[in-house]
Amino acid sequence: MSDRPQSPGRRAPQVVLLDLDGTLLDYSDDDWLLTVRATCDGLTESVPGLHAAELAETYARLCLRHWEPAASAVMLAPSGSPHGHDVWREHWHEALTLCGHDDPGLARMAFELYRRDRMARYRLYPEVRSTLEGLRELVDGLAVVTNGPGDTQREKIAATGLDAYVDVIVTAGETGHAKPQPEIFHRALRELDATPARAWHIGDSLSSDVAGARNAGLAGAVWLDRGGKGGLGSLAGLLTMLAP
Ligand SMILES: [Mg+2]
Repeated sequence: MSDRPQSPGRRAPQVVLLDLDGTLLDYSDDDWLLTVRATCDGLTESVPGLHAAELAETYARLCLRHWEPAASAVMLAPSGSPHGHDVWREHWHEALTLCGHDDPGLARMAFELYRRDRMARYRLYPEVRSTLEGLRELVDGLAVVTNGPGDTQREKIAATGLDAYVDVIVTAGETGHAKPQPEIFHRALRELDATPARAWHIGDSLSSDVAGARNAGLAGAVWLDRGGKGGLGSLAGLLTMLAP
């Protein structure tokens, strides 16, 4: 697989699809670890004897074990619920139970602290707003196409004001298909009333975004690579690629 941005040809695309996490939303693994630690530290204020470091390690381990197979699939909570908030609630309850605190009330408190801390840390990469404004001048429609549950992905979009810039939001949790499956891309195109031949997708994952866009027959599959390994170094570069 090429690690270079693809050249979709000279014809201007009708629509651009964009990945969310790592492409538009800057909430890194380090940010997430800070959230986990802040949640555990917050709980210790209410629960004397709770070992914050042990709980943080336990919660992180449960999440990573759960996320790995879900990276290219529809993520479900251990109970089978498709809601991201249930994933969080159930993992906090399990982590607390493993640490000797089987207390649904405490698990609810952990969920609320965790959710609030995440929301406070969500931010867009610096060039996102200006790039989306520029894209709106160049194409007919913009969509976010994101793996992950509908509730938590839409929460990220609302918290950062992204919904003001895009026409359509498609999530794996709500469609039942995750990138790199073609169905999730085709769902976005149907909602935009567009065809694969006039669509590009950009995202930071070669395996889900670039491969998925190719599986879906899109005209353009652009790898956003802020790490400088060969893809497009900044979302703003898309404006240059699309300029007439
Ligand atoms: Mg991503």
